[in-house]
Amino acid sequence: MLKNALDTDIENIYTNQKNFFSQQRTLPIKYRREILKKLLFAIRENEKRIHDALYNDLRKSGFESLTTETILVEKEIKKMIKMLPVWSRPKRVKSSLLNFPSRDFIVPEPYGNVLIITPWNYPFQLAMTPLVGAVAAGNTVVLKPSESSENTSLIVSEIINSVFDSSHVSVVQGDASVASTLLKKRWDYIFYTGSTAVGKIVAKAAAENLTPTTLELGGKSPCIIDETVPIKKTAKRIVWSKYINCGQTCIAPDYLVVQKSIKSILVNNLINEIKSAFGKNPINSPDYGRIIHKKHFNKLKLSLNNQKILYGGIQDEKQLYFGPTLVDEPPNESILMREEIFGPILPIISFDSENEMHHILKGREKPLAFYIFSNKKNFIDNIFKRYSFGGGVANDAIVHFANDNLPFGGIGNSGMGEYHGKYSFKIFSHYKPIVKRSFLFDLPQRYAPYPKSLSFLKFLINRL
Ligand code: NAD
Repeated sequence: MLKNALDTDIENIYTNQKNFFSQQRTLPIKYRREILKKLLFAIRENEKRIHDALYNDLRKSGFESLTTETILVEKEIKKMIKMLPVWSRPKRVKSSLLNFPSRDFIVPEPYGNVLIITPWNYPFQLAMTPLVGAVAAGNTVVLKPSESSENTSLIVSEIINSVFDSSHVSVVQGDASVASTLLKKRWDYIFYTGSTAVGKIVAKAAAENLTPTTLELGGKSPCIIDETVPIKKTAKRIVWSKYINCGQTCIAPDYLVVQKSIKSILVNNLINEIKSAFGKNPINSPDYGRIIHKKHFNKLKLSLNNQKILYGGIQDEKQLYFGPTLVDEPPNESILMREEIFGPILPIISFDSENEMHHILKGREKPLAFYIFSNKKNFIDNIFKRYSFGGGVANDAIVHFANDNLPFGGIGNSGMGEYHGKYSFKIFSHYKPIVKRSFLFDLPQRYAPYPKSLSFLKFLINRL
């Protein structure tokens, strides 16, 4: 068990980081790039240990750890190092003739002292990616990783300690009570990833100090499949995206909404693809993960009560193994259809007409992701237009996360604010508008006593 950080240690880190920032130590771009290079080096040096920690926390395969955790972080750091001189440069914009003559700029400045709180499901990547953005933008950071993925949280803190002065970036370990202590402090920016319920607690605490906040939350991401799809390939992509990390992915397809005419053949194909990916007994597969802890395991188990299992449902509590499971038409009011599943259970709901499909989807909270498998371009475009969601993919799932040219984030109940690549630099920067006037010239009419006739002024303003 990770020990909770002491209040006195938190207080010291907080005060030291305030001083560090006010001394403008984080401002030089050269310093930011150098420290990011050191971080990249430390991650590469420790890659095997990071992967071992992820295996011990979630039994992630080396392949998953590389492709969904370390490589993504390394890519993000490399992008920041390359683009920082461009993104951080003051940008000259056209001046207003009303201020003639002037030179106008937008200057990105760091917010200051940032707090980042992260979850356990991709415990390396979800801690490091926002941290990299916050550091690139010139902030100090206190990172509170999840207490549930303790092996990874420990290696994260070891790497951070080896690279950063603790007055610049510090890891504070502990559970929800430590997060509450941290949230009582006044931060310049809070970045939170986790459940919607806790997201509301974070937002309330941030509101006390009017602290700007990014909330990366969860939700039920639907996956629609119509009868025009190539079924085998569709099934393969769904099985991969649903069962990666044992279904504990915020953007995993939460439930399928399938056209009735292909339902049974799709189910057969899903079962074949599960077997081909993980064998007849996925418990023996080196590529199939485990549930994070007993509490989550029991929640998943409970959600299967009174459900019609089409495939799987096999569990081994001692190993926290929960097999890939397909559930047939769970009722709308069941836990499976009310709450985010966040595990390897995939409900399959069928529709005949488009109207019926909309009936299944309507009235739900805005999800973090939305997936459509179809060969009909209009069908895809109309649905993407009609529904609001964090991010969408046609004919695949979860892959939008990997493109750092796309902003990643939720909307409504699934969050607010977006990051990755340029968007990370943006959310951790305040864009300060600066107007530099000259003493050369003034419109005499701007000063009182004001002109009595406004027609010349209107004429002038309309033409500026
Ligand atoms: P969680 O909300 O329980 O915990 C996340 C973090 O919040 C942890 O560090 C935890 O210590 C802290 N925390 C817990 N209770 C708190 C409290 N009362 N006050 C302050 N902090 C508290 O979430 P989780 O179970 O770790 O993660 C699962 C959820 O996260 C899912 O809903 C999933 O969809 C979501 N998620 C979202 C994204 C995203 O990018 N949008 C990514 C991963 C996970």
